[in-house]
Amino acid sequence: MSDPVAPDLRALYEETILDHNRRPRNFRRIEGALSAEGHNPLCGDRVTVYVLLDGDRIADVAFEGSGCAISKASASMMTEAIHGRSRAEAEALLGRFRGLLSPEGPGAAEGMGKLAVFAGVRDFPARVKCAVLAWHALTAALTGANPAVSTE
Ligand code: ZN
Repeated sequence: MSDPVAPDLRALYEETILDHNRRPRNFRRIEGALSAEGHNPLCGDRVTVYVLLDGDRIADVAFEGSGCAISKASASMMTEAIHGRSRAEAEALLGRFRGLLSPEGPGAAEGMGKLAVFAGVRDFPARVKCAVLAWHALTAALTGANPAVSTE
């Protein structure tokens, strides 16, 4: 049995995804920043995430790329959610975001702010990789260990 998302959250989900897909926030390159590219071959999404650190704080974050509405909206909302946070806070948020998308997700939305709308992706398991792509690229950029990640 799947766990259908409440109708009002579903409407908010669609509205939010479409808005960020149409007008992605922080859609630009940051010169001299840490960066990593993520690729989701199942859907054809490509996203490059740029992170500028000031000590341990994420002073600026942006992305470029092309892909489906979910991958773009997720990258756009991720940049808004982690801007100004510490590295550890960004990583903790990624963990919670993944939890939100998992089948055990209900309940994880607490305190997630606008990111909570991604609970709607749970109804489309094939799209979970689209939603986490930018987050994986962010982690790769922060660790610098793997400049290109694939969700396959
Ligand atoms: Zn996609």
